[in-house]
Amino acid sequence: MIHRAKKSLGQNFLVDENICRKIVHALDIIPGDNVLEIGPGHGALTRFIHHKGAQIFALEKDVELCLILKDRFQDINIVCADALAFDWSRLERLPDLKIAGNLPYNVASRIIWDLAFQIGRLDRAIFMVQKEVGQRIISRPGSKSYGGLSVWIQSFLKPEILFRVSPKVFRPRPKVDSVVLKFIPLGEEKKIFCRKELAKTIRIMFQSRRKQVGTILRTYWNDEINLFFEQRGISARSRPEDLSPVDFQGLSGKLFSDDRQILS
Ligand code: SAM
Repeated sequence: MIHRAKKSLGQNFLVDENICRKIVHALDIIPGDNVLEIGPGHGALTRFIHHKGAQIFALEKDVELCLILKDRFQDINIVCADALAFDWSRLERLPDLKIAGNLPYNVASRIIWDLAFQIGRLDRAIFMVQKEVGQRIISRPGSKSYGGLSVWIQSFLKPEILFRVSPKVFRPRPKVDSVVLKFIPLGEEKKIFCRKELAKTIRIMFQSRRKQVGTILRTYWNDEINLFFEQRGISARSRPEDLSPVDFQGLSGKLFSDDRQILS
């Protein structure tokens, strides 16, 4: 079956075996490991994951590719579905799950955002994304690319850029550089905040990232919030990008403590 790459599904297929090997090596697979691959495409990475003896679950949106994959790999579980609508809690029964994906660029940050808080039993995830998205994910407070995505992901996972990838290793070639990232979950003791409140706080704060914190939070300001900033040594004149993920988590509890029934 001849398959034409679909731009709408971010289909830039890997054609360099060394890069595929390097990505799969970062998963540190031992035979029998459970590995979920998001967007396996023609199976460029799947083939190497398969060689390592992993138990593979693959999530692919393109029905044509699902048929090709089912033909090529008889012993892997292929779910033909949209990762954006997938209920990640279905994976709870798989302990120490490893996740891999050369993610479609247009939806990569949304997929990682969703996965970050829903995957309970993750060992690690290795994802390839557009370089600028990778930069935003790992950015620290005070830097230009630090924003809501950095705060959110770093509240659940520890991200690290492993290496950069040139457009030359894909067909068709994308117009951008890529990076491969590794994500390790933070311990449960670091996740003592409510995710809905955190998401709300991130949205409010970064909607007006150039404004001062005191101005953004004018309608919420009270003694408790004043004390919160004072105790952390954060001026009301600072900007959202000056606050660390832990500051955001603490602030979300102060701003929306009434909504606390909904624990993450
Ligand atoms: N892993 C293959 C490789 O490296 O050659 C393909 C990578 S390609 C960048 C992205 C893959 O994700 C494509 O196979 C595409 O069909 C699939 N995809 C795109 N959007 C998706 C979605 N929302 N859910 C699941 N898969 C998706």
